[in-house]
Amino acid sequence: MVKHIRKAAVIGSGVMGSGIAAHLANIGIPVLLLDMVPRELTKEEEKKGRTLHDPDVRNRLTQTAVKRLFKQKPAPLTSKKNISYITTGNMEDDFEKIKEADWIIEVVVENLDVKKQVFAKVDQYRKPGSIVSSNTSGISVKQMAEGRSVDFKKHFLGTHFFNPARYLKLLEIIPIDETDPEVLCFMKGFGEDVLGKGVVEAKDTPNFIANRIGTYGLLVTVQEMLKGGYTIGEVDSITGPLIGRPKSATFRTLDVVGLDTFSHVAKNVYDQVEGEEKKVFRLPEFVEKMLENGWIGSKAKQGFYKKEGKDIFELDPMTMTYGERKKLKTPGLEAAKQLKGNGARMKALIYSDDKAGNLLWKTTAPTLVYSAALTGQIADTVVAVDKAMKWGFGWSQGPFEMWDSIGVKESVQKLEADGWQVADWVKEMLKKGHKSFYLRENGRTFFYDIQSGEYRALEENKKNIYLSSIKETKGVIKKNSGASLIDLGDDVALLEFHSKSNAIGLDIIQMLKYAIDEVDANYKGLVIGNQGKNFCVGANLAMMLMEAQDDNFMEIDMIIRQFQQTMLKVKYSSKPVVAAPFGMTLGGGTEVCLPAARVQASSEAYMGLVEVGVGLIPGGGGNKELYLNHLKGFPEGMSVDLQQAANQTFEKIAMAKTSTSAHEARELNILTVQDQISMNQDHLLYDAKSHVLTLHENGYRPPVKQKVPVTGETGYAALLLGAEAFKLSGAISDHDMTIAKKLAFVIAGGRVSFGAEVSEEYLLDLEREAFLSLVGEPKSQARMQHMLVKGKPLRN
Ligand code: NAD
Repeated sequence: MVKHIRKAAVIGSGVMGSGIAAHLANIGIPVLLLDMVPRELTKEEEKKGRTLHDPDVRNRLTQTAVKRLFKQKPAPLTSKKNISYITTGNMEDDFEKIKEADWIIEVVVENLDVKKQVFAKVDQYRKPGSIVSSNTSGISVKQMAEGRSVDFKKHFLGTHFFNPARYLKLLEIIPIDETDPEVLCFMKGFGEDVLGKGVVEAKDTPNFIANRIGTYGLLVTVQEMLKGGYTIGEVDSITGPLIGRPKSATFRTLDVVGLDTFSHVAKNVYDQVEGEEKKVFRLPEFVEKMLENGWIGSKAKQGFYKKEGKDIFELDPMTMTYGERKKLKTPGLEAAKQLKGNGARMKALIYSDDKAGNLLWKTTAPTLVYSAALTGQIADTVVAVDKAMKWGFGWSQGPFEMWDSIGVKESVQKLEADGWQVADWVKEMLKKGHKSFYLRENGRTFFYDIQSGEYRALEENKKNIYLSSIKETKGVIKKNSGASLIDLGDDVALLEFHSKSNAIGLDIIQMLKYAIDEVDANYKGLVIGNQGKNFCVGANLAMMLMEAQDDNFMEIDMIIRQFQQTMLKVKYSSKPVVAAPFGMTLGGGTEVCLPAARVQASSEAYMGLVEVGVGLIPGGGGNKELYLNHLKGFPEGMSVDLQQAANQTFEKIAMAKTSTSAHEARELNILTVQDQISMNQDHLLYDAKSHVLTLHENGYRPPVKQKVPVTGETGYAALLLGAEAFKLSGAISDHDMTIAKKLAFVIAGGRVSFGAEVSEEYLLDLEREAFLSLVGEPKSQARMQHMLVKGKPLRN
């Protein structure tokens, strides 16, 4: 069996095949991408005089797929450069090249016969020991392997990625009886550690776990909508974030997935099940009509919703016409909205006897009953089912976690009163006096194991560090309203932000200052990280605006001074500080990462100094640090070009450039080559802690304080020239120009000569003065106000 996946081959370059190839390229694994040879020339090829023997024509499908990767949104590639890892070819001329691959993934059309033909060929050309898998959404994995060699079957399994492969966390792995346990174990580890996925082992049943339960839940909702006379908009208004489901709720999700894809998935189960279950998987008549009409969703620009200009209209299933979007409003709904946590809201709603409560109960009840009935058949544990639904469908709680939230005992009574047959094992669990599917004890989670009828400790990957568990068992070293200092073990401390949106205010700055002193005295190093929704969306804008509107400039000066000084403290800390950004890491969030000894970023870290959008410039030393990163960024042996470094720094801050991945943050010089990237966000804090320990073991020394060479007045003039050109073309406003001038002055290092070497403190003074003058500008305040109220930048 292979011990490493050094090369991979992906067969099929459609939606999923190209997405999986891109994901492998993002990791740095070379991929051979194959597809069919076209049987006909396109008009364009004919015009160019091409024949069906031309390599360009023969590889057309994969070459087009690769070009598509650049245009798709959200981007499948974490960096455009990753495309170099993908080699295109076709299934007639290049098939034997799969012998070089350690992993061959089949991603062709969902048809058993086609897949079997592909695997027969794979069996012929693959090297022994290479792993082979199918990305099928629900065809029997066992049947696909029928007729194949012993070595093939030993190395064969289902690897079901979700669309889009880069972003969706779930990877269902489906072994067959012959799959070597070592291969299964290797692929689970590879899936988590290298691909960065949430791996769930599923059994070889129609549509596996997430698509089986998810499709059932969606279809039940459509049917209950029709029975109860609700509208599409009304259903979406309560089946989204209110109950911990994605914003796209029910019908927008279906529009995004596409009714064509959805109907295939539903039909696959429909064909393989019987009785009451079969009835649910039959598409309602109006959905069949939509399919006939080609109203399949976003791809066709109309589905359950239709956008006209800026307006969105909803479909009326009775008349098949589009009308105004409606929302449900009930007293129960309003009361539930005031509650904290999806579980609490769900509990309040589900037992409230009004239009919203009734719909939620009628759609949740069958989903819970169905999930319980299938556990054991489609997956071994409630944990696997819950994880699959969270990672594959973006639910904040899986069915059993949700069931715990609404109370198992009360809900089972209500279910039985409504005539539902609840799985025996659930009733057994209650009979034994147990009240929930999960228990927390001494910082550990236990789940009810349906095989043994007892609770079993949840075995977690040691790389999954949960701050909530550490705080539950060990408490914190120190805490204030915005941040906590936590002992991560092994003499590493962690500073956690927990303010609203993790915005940086004085509380976080003060805790950071304390943390550096504490770590200096008692720890090997510090991680700056958290497990919120985003690492940090920037500085506390509301506080800044309030002070500015009250003309409290002394206060703002004090805050900025402290922010700058604390960032210097981070930079020159005697112990290594590793920042662990993920998700939105904007403005102040990026400024906290820049001076850290190293950054351990999640692959999905969106970083940038975006202050210009709110009429400001970075105020925590970000201008200087980004400039220094640009100076460091010149390849060895190449002389440093100060003006180029200043231009590039200026451009990034003036245009508020944000990376769409950690790889791109590296290209923007926000991250350096020494910074590292974690593919699995659940492992981020573990990786950051290991990074601290490695730095410690290698005898970490803080950087030596050095003067910074700047471009001075000459550089300032050059930067302004560029900005003027933008101004003249009308691309930027007068106020943008005001900000640009201040920014240029700071980056150029003020009124000194070209090449002068200045202290960091001097640059921080320039930055603070510029910041203070901008925060007092009415147009900057209007930008801040707009961002706070509307959540997007104002162009003024
Ligand atoms: P797709 O239609 O976009 O791509 C299918 C690919 O199969 C195309 O590249 C096509 O050229 C190739 N193909 C068609 N007929 C073939 C043949 N006779 N021999 C060899 N290749 C052939 O489909 P997709 O959405 O990428 O789905 C591919 C697989 O992934 C299917 O098994 C599907 O069930 C599964 N899947 C799809 C999704 C999704 O959301 N689209 C999600 C998870 C899994």
